[in-house]
Amino acid sequence: MQAKVISSFDKVIDVPVEGVTTFNEKPAVLEKYGKEIDRVLISKECIKRRLEAMAKEIGDDLKKFKEINCLVVLKGSIFFASDLIRLLDEGTPIRTKLDFIQCSSYGDKAFPNEEVKIEKYGDIEGEIILVIEDIVDKGGTLRKLQEFLTKRGKPFKTCVLLDKTQDKNPDLQLDYVGFKIPREFVGGYGLDYAGMYRGLSDIVVVKKELLKLQ
Ligand code: 5GP
Ligand code: MG
Repeated sequence: MQAKVISSFDKVIDVPVEGVTTFNEKPAVLEKYGKEIDRVLISKECIKRRLEAMAKEIGDDLKKFKEINCLVVLKGSIFFASDLIRLLDEGTPIRTKLDFIQCSSYGDKAFPNEEVKIEKYGDIEGEIILVIEDIVDKGGTLRKLQEFLTKRGKPFKTCVLLDKTQDKNPDLQLDYVGFKIPREFVGGYGLDYAGMYRGLSDIVVVKKELLKLQ
């Protein structure tokens, strides 16, 4: 399957099923993980370029605040957050703070249901909170976080790397989105399947046959 080559990263990227890449990329990941991974959906170079544009957009929007508190949703968002927060601090006027929160949803990992619980959180303070989340699917996790912050009267924005909602959840607050992707199960760049693939630099599609085996 031939990925679509793109060169402009300024807006949310609508990723087609065949994926996106930039010129001159040859994803090496398939050599090692070819039996488990169907294809590279978003190459690491595309992620990098899109994050640079997102940081600029967030920097322009939120520069009126003295500092922002980045609330990172564990665990899948760690690579996304660590790259984005450094871009914000190094390339924009924004000063950042960092907090973590963990949510859990019940049901199968590949097919989570809507019941989400907030497991842990630290002191969530600050003038404005930037929720940093890896992926939104049915929206149960983000909805829960929205309720949690709203109830506590905390002003917040949300920043999501991957959006699988297909624009079907108008109640979700999606302020900054990296890529809109097809509804397939993805791993890599912090995202796992059964604990695997978090360390891959590209975002990949996990083979359907593997999901059925679990
Ligand atoms: P939602 O609550 O929006 O249905 O799903 C959110 C959570 O489900 C995400 O935070 C993530 O943990 C998990 N999830 C949903 N889709 C995927 C996916 O394609 N890959 C991985 N690794 N996790 C996913
Ligand atoms: Mg998540």
